[in-house]
Amino acid sequence: TPRIFSGIQPSGGLTLGNYLGALKRFAALQGSGSETVYCIVDLHAITVWQDPDVLRQRIREGAAAFMASGVDPRQSILFNQSQVSAHAEMAWLFNTVARVGWMYRMTQFKDKAGKNSENASLGLLAYPALMAADILTYQATAVPVGEDQKQHLELTRDIAAKFNHDYKIEHFPITEPLIEGVATRVMSLRDGSKKMSKSDPSDASRINLTDDADAIAQKIRKARTDADPLPGSIEGLKDRPEARNLVNIFAALADQTPDEVLARFEGQGFGAFKPALAEVAVEALSPITRKMSEFMDDPAEIDRILGDGADRADEVATPILERTKEIMGLLRSR
Ligand code: ATP
Ligand code: MG
Repeated sequence: TPRIFSGIQPSGGLTLGNYLGALKRFAALQGSGSETVYCIVDLHAITVWQDPDVLRQRIREGAAAFMASGVDPRQSILFNQSQVSAHAEMAWLFNTVARVGWMYRMTQFKDKAGKNSENASLGLLAYPALMAADILTYQATAVPVGEDQKQHLELTRDIAAKFNHDYKIEHFPITEPLIEGVATRVMSLRDGSKKMSKSDPSDASRINLTDDADAIAQKIRKARTDADPLPGSIEGLKDRPEARNLVNIFAALADQTPDEVLARFEGQGFGAFKPALAEVAVEALSPITRKMSEFMDDPAEIDRILGDGADRADEVATPILERTKEIMGLLRSR
């Protein structure tokens, strides 16, 4: 059966962007005929500094968010990256396949390394090789992600193709990105040119999955917008990124098209739109917030689920890793 892989970093509290761009779609892909493998990618998170005690908590919170969003650990393999050693091993193998120049071209590296990129961790530069390892260690053929990860997925394809070419064997699949829907790039509430991110220093820029109804309403009320009334179709929002973002969020949360949302609000301003958006957001997110906190009440159970997931992930990953080593001329470890 075809396999789908995706992951989320425990690099902060999860956001509405993570929910709409990733988590909500992860749950929907279960039972679609593909095996679903979902991962909390802690090895990626530590490419920028993480406080150890906070990180431990966020890994469990990540698992709780997956499950609260509808990922069923019996239907999917749900696990934590560092508990399956094949990821780190495969990443090393890919460090020898990928070229340094490919890594320097990645916009995420440029964004996260900032001006003083000489001082970024080597892991931050190699991040996409580890991501390719996550995906290809399962020979996954499709990867649901947000739009920001498109470039990294192209690099995953490049690594697979170069490996297959260099070793003259069709070993790795050329993975397809699944970037679908109206919320593949949820923007910051404070800046319509920046994506919403869990690691953004401004809490007002994002809606967290742990925010309560008041916090959600307040952040939406304060979200940056313009003063014009809403048009009858999304075409009319071409040059209004903040407005377009809020309409797309509404559409994704309400499972409508942006035009259906605008048909309802045509001619009205944000004074009418924002409270309605807050209501839709609270309605969609509050059950998730509640379930997350229920799961977090039993961290031992989360650890048990992640342990079981790691065992099942390992069963798939290890033979593929061993075969890869063999192709490269390394001796199999078992
Ligand atoms: P960080 O700021 O630490 O990179 P992040 O919010 O970007 O955190 P990631 O863990 O890097 O989250 O990404 C997890 C998944 O969420 C990826 O599939 C990514 O494409 C998706 N995603 C992240 N931000 C958004 C967004 N604003 N809109 C849609 N999808 C998003
Ligand atoms: Mg990110």
